[in-house]
Amino acid sequence: MGAADIIKQHLIDPEICIRCNTCEDTCPIDAITHDDRNYVVKADVCNGCGACLSPCPTGAIDNWRTMFKGQAYGIDAQFGWDELPAEVPLTEAVIDAAIDAAAAAGQAIEDAAASSKPPAVQAVETSRHTSPKAPWSAAHPYVNLHGIREPLTATVAGNYRLTEADASSDIHHIVLDLGNQFFPVLEGQAIGIVPPGVDASGKPHYIRMYSVASPRDGERPGYNNLALTVKRVETDHDGNAVRGVASNFLCDLNKGDAVQVVGPFGNTFLMPNHREASVMMICTGTGSAPMRAMTERMRRNMQHFDGRRLLFFGARNRRELPYFGPLLKLPKDFLDIHFAFSRDPEVPRRYVQDAIREAGGSVAALLGDPHGHVYICGLKGMEEGVLDAFAEICGSAGLSWADVETRLRAEGRLHIETY
Ligand code: NAP
Repeated sequence: MGAADIIKQHLIDPEICIRCNTCEDTCPIDAITHDDRNYVVKADVCNGCGACLSPCPTGAIDNWRTMFKGQAYGIDAQFGWDELPAEVPLTEAVIDAAIDAAAAAGQAIEDAAASSKPPAVQAVETSRHTSPKAPWSAAHPYVNLHGIREPLTATVAGNYRLTEADASSDIHHIVLDLGNQFFPVLEGQAIGIVPPGVDASGKPHYIRMYSVASPRDGERPGYNNLALTVKRVETDHDGNAVRGVASNFLCDLNKGDAVQVVGPFGNTFLMPNHREASVMMICTGTGSAPMRAMTERMRRNMQHFDGRRLLFFGARNRRELPYFGPLLKLPKDFLDIHFAFSRDPEVPRRYVQDAIREAGGSVAALLGDPHGHVYICGLKGMEEGVLDAFAEICGSAGLSWADVETRLRAEGRLHIETY
């Protein structure tokens, strides 16, 4: 490759980025890095695979500049940006000048003249074909109304512990009052919380994302508020003691306290709104937040939804399961609930994927239904297990899971948010 090869340079918009670190965590080849100011992409490492695109909550990640490889923005330049530079069109004159310059420098001109689509561009386009889509009947989501530079101030209207006193996890239902500020949030969207203070190195804390647990008309209809489901983090994935910055801040809030909020974020994990839609919701622990929002939306508007609703909900035991009591009060013909308790001495250990297999008939019917929508939210580990269970169930029902999955994704009917 010569300096005049054309690349599609991947850039992150510093005006929209909330510095949540998701892209850096996601990139499989360490092409993304950051300083105390900006998140940036290394042009010489990025292969345009697109793995970072859909996890980005704001869309700041999805910026591309067609340019000569030799003129790609280095990371030092990107660290200094307050906004993205404008796109410089590659006119014939510009291309000719670059080819002349490269020739003078003795470099080969490969892709620039030979192909209008270099490999990086093709890779990005391919990944976009499989990017998540919203259901066709989803409502219009507002995103990025408040960014890191101008967070909105919400006031705590309530903070209630959801798990029982003797449960090992401390999960809270936190209601935030938005006053008279315009901040519409749909079921399945998330907001960012700006933890106050600075980290050990004196930098502001990263924003933490939480799915909204209330429906679009608020936790209390007619009031401009929303609810979050927050688990107090006291250990890391390996069981070592850590104090989660945002979760402890949120769980310790009192009524009347102020909270800095950014967002809303997310434009695909949205519920269908058409009458025939059926939904299958699969979650573990606090991954139940968006499922509660969708269920509550449908419960408040039952007359508009004729489809079926299936819920598979995994937790260690019933004392650890957020919203256990209210869930049991819902009519059976409104919500078909399947719990999976992994550490309950009274029942055999099982995960959501086991419950899904046991309900194979209902699951196959929904997967084969052109109005069936699937939502998966919670622990990363369950994703593979759930998809394997779908494959088995489809096999037994004479369906090809590969075909079903392709169709679900293409039609915005398969939504996965796991962490
Ligand atoms: P958790 O209590 O640690 O686990 C919930 C259940 O999932 C337990 O029964 C656990 O079983 C089980 N589980 C563990 N590995 C599994 C696997 N491979 N397949 C199926 N089930 C498995 O859950 P949590 O701490 O609440 O975590 C929920 C997740 O949701 C987090 O990753 C969180 O980031 C994410 N989330 C949260 C929100 C929010 O708004 N708060 C929104 C979206 C997503 P054992 O532990 O007994 O093995």
